[in-house]
Amino acid sequence: MLKTKIRKGDTVEVISGRRQDKGRRGEVIRVDPKSHRVTVQGVNVRKKHQRQVQTQGRTMSPGIIEFEGSIHISNVMLVCPSCNKPSRLGVQRDEDGAAHRVCKACGSQID
Ligand SMILES: [Zn+2]
Repeated sequence: MLKTKIRKGDTVEVISGRRQDKGRRGEVIRVDPKSHRVTVQGVNVRKKHQRQVQTQGRTMSPGIIEFEGSIHISNVMLVCPSCNKPSRLGVQRDEDGAAHRVCKACGSQID
């Protein structure tokens, strides 16, 4: 099983996919390890027309709702907080056996 190294809250850069999303950076707001898909803030934004609806006494106003669609995890790379580049990741274990993600470009520990 492919283990994903991308986590919720990470900043990632889109490296392939839709032209308008390429090179865009954003925070990961959802990771779906089963389908290997991630949802990134501001990436793959879709628009949905919403009719006025009543739900549990609340009225949702009509209009256009924008929401992010998920993209495949292979289309994004983690942006290293140290070198600020989209980086390949390695895993290092410390003396306690805890795994840390490491940027392969600059060698710094990410978490
Ligand atoms: Zn780095």
